[in-house]
Amino acid sequence: MTPELMRVGAKLRQEHEERQKSRDTESGGRQASFGRLVRQGEADFTQGVALYLDNISVSFDGFKALNALTLEINVGELRCIIGPNGAGKTTMMDVITGKTRPDAGTVFFGSTIDLLRMTEPQIAQIGVGRKFQKPTVYEQLTVFENLELALKADRRARASLFSRLTAEQLDRIGEMLTLIHLKANAQRTAGLLSHGQKQWLEIGMLLMQDPKLLLLDEPVAGMTDEESERTAELFLSLEGRHSLVVVEHDMKFVDQLTQSRKRVTVLHEGSVLAEGLLSDVQNDQKVVEVYLGR
Ligand code: ADP
Ligand code: MG
Repeated sequence: MTPELMRVGAKLRQEHEERQKSRDTESGGRQASFGRLVRQGEADFTQGVALYLDNISVSFDGFKALNALTLEINVGELRCIIGPNGAGKTTMMDVITGKTRPDAGTVFFGSTIDLLRMTEPQIAQIGVGRKFQKPTVYEQLTVFENLELALKADRRARASLFSRLTAEQLDRIGEMLTLIHLKANAQRTAGLLSHGQKQWLEIGMLLMQDPKLLLLDEPVAGMTDEESERTAELFLSLEGRHSLVVVEHDMKFVDQLTQSRKRVTVLHEGSVLAEGLLSDVQNDQKVVEVYLGR
């Protein structure tokens, strides 16, 4: 979940509690009290580049978690990133989302936005969504309410935060419920979902905000085989509309995502060790040595 979403969630809950307290009294002026949306500079994707990392280095007490990492993700591309534990995959996502500041290098979102000049909430707002490994949904709310919250936290729909859902918004939530295979569970409390379903719900919440770039850190860890397959189908259906960076250890899942034609990136000791088709990198001697051969 994005920091922005958590902030909005806390606000919504507070509002909800206040409304419960004064159920019979009409508060009024709710709309009027709400501030206007501040527009952020839009990113430029006309050059075909969604994300560009150049020479990124991150040190923790002298240890280089990222070492001159250079990586380019195209608009609409689905890129899988593999690599042994400690390779720097999560640190890379921390740098992209503004959680960790690199010692050196540049990070561009589209061709004009320098992410290193932006804060974590600003980066989320401009269209970078991140799925952490652990599912973070509002357990006490229903599936539907979780999606509603995410929709209303959308940077472009802020003005309607406390208003009723429009027909169009209802349709969007309905479509999302279908996409994430949770239509039959719409009124279920999120806390009662399976681990895999919670993961889908969180992905759905991220998608409600229509991110240009979606970062997914080990999204199928802990899922059943069937859930993993459905997750792969979901990601494949997002390809083209969003750029996706998927970090994953499950090679069956990666194989399904790449469909034997997409490039994967192998990270090792903070930089790119190999890049190419999964079948090629799997047979690459240096990849076998550091990773797959274990
Ligand atoms: P991966 O996600 O590929 O398994 P990480 O990016 O989590 O790898 O970690 C890369 C290396 O950086 C690891 O050796 C890890 O111990 C180290 N590291 C990550 N975050 C921190 C931190 N906040 N402080 C110190 N060391 C860290
Ligand atoms: Mg990691």
